[in-house]
Amino acid sequence: MAAQEHTSKSGFETRAIHAGYDPDPTTGAVIPPIFATSTYKQDGVGGLRGGYEYSRSGNPTRTALEGNIAALEEGERGFAFASGLAAEDTLVRGLLAPGDHVVFPNDAYGGTFRLFDKVERLWGIDHTPVGHAPEDVRAAIRPGTTKMVWVETPTNPLLNIVDIEAVAAVAHEAGALLVVDNTFASPYLQQPLTLGADVVVHSTTKYCGGHSDVVGGAVVVRDLDLAERIAFHHNAMGAVAGPFDSWLTLRGLRTLALRMERHSENAERVVEFLTRHPAVSHVYYPGLPDHPGHEVAARQMRRFGGMVSFRVTGGEAQALAVCERAEVFTLGESLGGVESLIEHPGRMTHASVAGTELEVPSDLVRLSVGIETADDLIGDLDRALHGAAAPDSLTR
Ligand SMILES: *Cc1c(COP(=O)(O)O)cnc(C)c1O
Repeated sequence: MAAQEHTSKSGFETRAIHAGYDPDPTTGAVIPPIFATSTYKQDGVGGLRGGYEYSRSGNPTRTALEGNIAALEEGERGFAFASGLAAEDTLVRGLLAPGDHVVFPNDAYGGTFRLFDKVERLWGIDHTPVGHAPEDVRAAIRPGTTKMVWVETPTNPLLNIVDIEAVAAVAHEAGALLVVDNTFASPYLQQPLTLGADVVVHSTTKYCGGHSDVVGGAVVVRDLDLAERIAFHHNAMGAVAGPFDSWLTLRGLRTLALRMERHSENAERVVEFLTRHPAVSHVYYPGLPDHPGHEVAARQMRRFGGMVSFRVTGGEAQALAVCERAEVFTLGESLGGVESLIEHPGRMTHASVAGTELEVPSDLVRLSVGIETADDLIGDLDRALHGAAAPDSLTR
C-alpha cells in the first residue's frame, strides 16, 4: 500500500500516525471510514475495485489497520483477527499439522496455555512447557517434529524475559518457526521481527487498542511465502476483525508511543514505591537491575513497560484484600488500557492453569499500570497495602 511504503523509513511515531492509509481520494477524509459492508459491487464479473470482493477476505478499514501494525512491527504484512486467541489458533492449526510439536513457555498467558492444552492437543498438535533460557528451549525440541517455538516476553504474570535473538537461533537450528507474543511489550517497546522472530502475534485488546473498548488480535510477518499461507487461513478459517473493531484498534495505535512512555514512567514510579514497602516481599519488573532478565530486556526493549507483579508478605488472603481495597486501580482482568487495573492471577486470569506446571504463586498481585497521575496510583497502593479504605474524593 502506498501509504505504508511512503512511511516505511520514518520514525515510529510517524508510522503510527500515517502508515496503512492515505487520505481518501474522493473526500479527503484523514481517517479511514468504517466500511460497514459485507460485499462490494463488481464492474462486470470479477471486475473488482481495489481488490475487494467480500469482507471476510478483505475490508478497507481492516486493510488500514493491517498496514499500520505491519509498519509498526517492521514487518511486510499484517493480519487483523477477531481476538488474540483467534489469531493464535489460526497460526497453530493453519501452519502446523497433526503430529507436530510446539515448545512453549511455562508461564504463558493462561488462555494461550488452555488453547494448546485443551484445543490444539485434540487436533494432534502436542506441546511442551519450558523455562525461558535458550538451553531450556533447545532441550525440549524434538528433532523433526518441533515445528514451532512459541515465546512471550515479558511473560504474564511473572514478567520473565526471553532473549529473542538467542531463541530464534535455537528455533532456526531445528528448522522451527519462532513465534513471539508481543502483547506485553507492544511494537513500541520491542520489535521481535528485527531480532530474528518469524511471526509476531498480538492480543490488540491490550496495549495496541489501549482503551479497554475492543477485543482483537493481530499477526505480522516478514516472509512473503509465510504471509501467503497465513492469508489463506485468515480467510479460510474466517476469524477476522470486523470494520468497527479495526477502526477502534487503529485509533488506539495512533497514540501507542505516547501511552507506552507514560505507562513505563508510571510503572517505574510504582515499582520504586513497592520495592521499599514492608508488606511487599518481592517485585517482578524487568526494569529492576536485580531482575534476572534485566540485561536482555535493556538490550531488546526500549523501556520496560507498564506491567508490574508483586508478592505480599501476608499470603493469599492479603493479596486478595489488596486487590479488593484498591480504588484507583480497578479490580479486573485484562491489561494495557489507559486505566490502571489490579488483579489476583491465581484466582482470576490464571485460574485455568491451577494444578498445572503453570500455576502461579497465591500471594501474587498483578498490576497493569495506567496513565493516571502517578502519585494517585502510589497513594492508592499504599492504602490498599495498609488496609485503609480510599477517601471518596479520590475516585469521584
Ligand atoms: C490477552 C492475551 C492473549 C489473548 O488475547 P485475546 O484478545 O483475549 O483473545 C494472548 N496473549 C497475551 C499475552 C494476552 O495478554
